[in-house]
Amino acid sequence: MKIVVHIDDAAQWQAAIEKALPQATVLTSDAPAEARANADYLAVWKAPAHLLQEQAQLKGIINLGAGVDHLLKTPGLPSDVPVVKLRDAGMGELMADYTLYGVLHFYRSMDRYAQQQPNAEWQPHQVPEKSHWPIGILGLGAIGSLVATHLSQAGFPVLGWSRSAKQISGVECFHGDAGLDGLLSQVQCVVTILPDTAETHGILNAKRLAKLPQGACVINPGRGSLIDEQALLDSLGKDRKPGHLRGALLDVFCEEPLPANNPLWQHPRVIVTPHMAGPTPLSDAIDQVISYLRAFEAGEELATVNPDAGY
Ligand code: NDP
Repeated sequence: MKIVVHIDDAAQWQAAIEKALPQATVLTSDAPAEARANADYLAVWKAPAHLLQEQAQLKGIINLGAGVDHLLKTPGLPSDVPVVKLRDAGMGELMADYTLYGVLHFYRSMDRYAQQQPNAEWQPHQVPEKSHWPIGILGLGAIGSLVATHLSQAGFPVLGWSRSAKQISGVECFHGDAGLDGLLSQVQCVVTILPDTAETHGILNAKRLAKLPQGACVINPGRGSLIDEQALLDSLGKDRKPGHLRGALLDVFCEEPLPANNPLWQHPRVIVTPHMAGPTPLSDAIDQVISYLRAFEAGEELATVNPDAGY
């Protein structure tokens, strides 16, 4: 079995796969082209097009992350080779921590205290009852469902939204367009953990942001394309004067790195983080990669990415 690995720290992944599968030939993508040829599997994150195009007998592609938007847009992705992606693999807990941090930031008025401090303003704010502070999670997949459960266990009412109907303990589940509008009008905070697809592009547009109650906040660790950036800025209002929305914690952007001249950097009620909400922990991910390779080799049925749906 020959596997070619492409990711920033590919040597570490190579060593971990070799350790688990000593009989396999594991190469990093900077190996000579002749050595890389005729691989059985690619294990990749943001692979260059040539790496996909040069292979003649692939049996499977493993996406070394949860988002497949980059891979599905890469020219030369063979349509007849099954693609699998990492599901949770330790990212869910990190995304849940990130989201809980953001939720508490707004729920406990840390945004307000940060603005008061430069003026030495000693002004405590009331803490609302958690039962009056519902949170909406858009996307109830491997990561979104885990984030929703964590927030519910932290005592917040949680409403979730997905494409198909779901049942998750402690989470009031909605689906479909009508379900989304109904959810948005009820929540103090909306968290977007959807994939970037043709259907989800700009899903939080001006009209939908306006459906959120006055003073609601937005947390986006999903993908930048989910939110119409200008509409978000308009809803946040200018400078220190709050608009319809109170604030936002954003990890992902339409253009990354976020350009220095993007007004989100300077907005006093926006926190920008550099796409760090859910890195892939190597040890969890490797176990999943190995089980995918074994399942491919055994001819087992795998939950593959649906290129038509885009996730
Ligand atoms: P999954 O594929 O497991 O789940 C996707 C969820 O989105 C599903 O609940 C799906 O619905 C729902 N969905 C997809 N399209 C629609 C639609 N049109 N309308 C309503 N719901 C929809 O993905 P993960 O949970 O693993 O990851 C989600 C995203 O999080 C990734 O695609 C990636 O963009 C992002 N991410 C970001 C990270 C970061 O560091 N910032 C790290 C990891 C992931 P259904 O269940 O009905 O299929």
